[in-house]
Amino acid sequence: MAQAQDLRQAITSVGGRPGPVLSAYMSVNADIPENQRRAYLVRLRDAMNDEGVPEGLQQRVREYTEDETHPGARTLAIFADEDGLFEIYRLQVDVPESFRWGDPYVAPLTLVLDEYEPYGAAVLDAERFRYFVVSPLSTAHGEEEMKANGFLEVDVHPSEPYPRGGGSTDLDPAGRKHQSNIHSFYKELGELAREITFREGVRRLIIAGPRERTAEFRRTLPNELHDRVVAEEHIDLGAPEGELLDRLEAVRERAEHEREKELLDEIRESGVRGLDETVAALQEENRVYHLAALWELEAEIRWCDNDQLAIREITSEECPFCGRKTRVRSLTDVLVDLATARGARLDFMLGENENTDTLRDEFGGVAGLTRF
Ligand SMILES: [Zn+2]
Repeated sequence: MAQAQDLRQAITSVGGRPGPVLSAYMSVNADIPENQRRAYLVRLRDAMNDEGVPEGLQQRVREYTEDETHPGARTLAIFADEDGLFEIYRLQVDVPESFRWGDPYVAPLTLVLDEYEPYGAAVLDAERFRYFVVSPLSTAHGEEEMKANGFLEVDVHPSEPYPRGGGSTDLDPAGRKHQSNIHSFYKELGELAREITFREGVRRLIIAGPRERTAEFRRTLPNELHDRVVAEEHIDLGAPEGELLDRLEAVRERAEHEREKELLDEIRESGVRGLDETVAALQEENRVYHLAALWELEAEIRWCDNDQLAIREITSEECPFCGRKTRVRSLTDVLVDLATARGARLDFMLGENENTDTLRDEFGGVAGLTRF
């Protein structure tokens, strides 16, 4: 998992800077209405002014982001300072927007790393076998080429030529020989898929291609991969590549939606819900290991900087633990910090759909899965 290693290195190296550092997580997801006409550029400019980022640095950041007409990501993570630090990461996940000038703020990157489950897509027909990985960070390595939607194609070289004219069911000796060739060919593809899946850290696998091919491939797939298959999609590989990748992205989103739904079902069975109960279980009882929160949480909560704790009594200007002054922060920011500190996964759910309805109406916007 080269990508995850890069991200970990970035966290360590940026997190160790003395500051002040600009840490910006800017939502550039074109599907979010607030980002139409690149309105995020205005938000970035205003936020950098509010935070007091030095003018020279502001200008560098603005020039870079204004040149990016199609960022090819959902979130841009930007780290810059006046000592030459200038790093930009393209994240294929939605991270709550925040802009800070001061100590480096890497908690959201840590979360991305914990939260994100890389998807793989094995795409095949009679002629070809291709393997794509969607990773949280879109940085292409060496020979690999970054495609649309954050898909990266992995180089694969089956050792045997592809068997021609497959699908024949006649039982003359030539036909039987041909069937056995196909079988061993698919077996080899299965081994290849396994090797890449493990190497790339893929936990969720999509299989795509014409029905008879995907069926055969799935039958010969090594056992360890069966559990990882989350979708089988029947597509014609003759379509233009952009269309193919859009289809794969749609399948991936459906599978993610399904995963989120399962998380909410589990929380309903054995979890905590609502701001008060969830924060208590997370920070005081330390028994939440997976959080679900609405992307648009309007709530605020008090916070003690000295203890790094949320104060659930909203009127407490003094911290009940250490007696120092508390401040009011956005609940989203506090959840990010607490989840990072407690090692809990945090899934933000956005848009108008069945999952966000459940989370809002039934769980009060935030909920968590508990260990005990
Ligand atoms: Zn305190």
